[in-house]
Amino acid sequence: MMENIEQKLISRINEHATTLRIMHVCGTHERTISKYAIRDVINEDVQLLSGPGCPVCVTPAEDIDFAIALARSGKVITSFGDMMRVPGTKGSLFDARSDGSDIRMVYSIDDAIRIAKDNPTLQTVFFGIGFETTTPSNAAALLRGVPENFTILTSHKLMPPAMEILTQDTNIDGFLAPGHVSTIIGTDPYECISKKGFPIVVTGFEALDVLLGIAMIQNQIGSGRSFVENAYPRAVNAEGNLMAREMMYEVFKKTDSKWRGIGMIEKSGLALRKEFEQFDAANVHAGIYEEIEIDHEKTAPDTDVAENGLYEGCMCAEILTARAQPSQCPLFGTKCLPKDPVGPCMVSLEGTCYNWYKYKHNKGL
Ligand code: SF4
Repeated sequence: MMENIEQKLISRINEHATTLRIMHVCGTHERTISKYAIRDVINEDVQLLSGPGCPVCVTPAEDIDFAIALARSGKVITSFGDMMRVPGTKGSLFDARSDGSDIRMVYSIDDAIRIAKDNPTLQTVFFGIGFETTTPSNAAALLRGVPENFTILTSHKLMPPAMEILTQDTNIDGFLAPGHVSTIIGTDPYECISKKGFPIVVTGFEALDVLLGIAMIQNQIGSGRSFVENAYPRAVNAEGNLMAREMMYEVFKKTDSKWRGIGMIEKSGLALRKEFEQFDAANVHAGIYEEIEIDHEKTAPDTDVAENGLYEGCMCAEILTARAQPSQCPLFGTKCLPKDPVGPCMVSLEGTCYNWYKYKHNKGL
């Protein structure tokens, strides 16, 4: 029987297998890897590890606590559905909604703006999360104009600074770089990371894309070189989307940002510029932020025990930094399930634990 391209790539990867730890930093890559059981068909020496590629999973508990405090003070909180069940230190947005707070699920910032327009007497806050892929549309909305009763709680993150940190702290050999993020930032921002000895291949989201990315990293390792390669030229180029980035940086500026599971990373987040401070929830509602009591011990990267015991035993911090795989978590598939998640990695459709569980019976390609 003739081998298809995927099978040829699998054979090639397995023929050239050496001990190799490849990290991806994209929830959609994890879905592809889990859905097609790619880990099962490639040599076990070639390890595919998840990094902090799920925006919901890396949103720090403090930001969730702030959103809940805003809701409890009478604001309308609008949020993507995935965010609703992610725990802060004192429960989730979903819990706060059950207690009577006005928290509404939206699919985009435009939905949130519509809610603000339809309710001019209410303060509406949009919980803005996501990487470089999501932020430009939020910037565009602010540039178009939003009602006075609308603010954003920004928890946006930038991927290259997190990748850079992970090269220092984790034992990885190379990266599959995220296709979606790269459509905006291009491939140039990865150059400084690859120059430190880490092969980087930007890949798309089909099984074939991922397999090609793995084979290309193997090639680089085999040749003793590290550079940035683009295995997703149908969507990504070196420069990225300049217009989207211009819009993004007209509205936002880089700021230090805390990532759940990792901690503070210099210049890895985005805050609203001064010209937009009247739409910045952290500025407009600063008094509420100051009032919430954040237990910094409970929100430290490796401390997952929340007041309500929600996190007890959860290994999301290790999973987001490739120090563990979901199957090493004693709660995986027992006490922690998609319908009853313990930690954010099981809540989100982009979470590693969620995808491992959802596709656990899938057979390899
Ligand atoms: S299986 Fe659940 S408890 Fe374990 S690391 Fe994943 S999200 Fe946390």
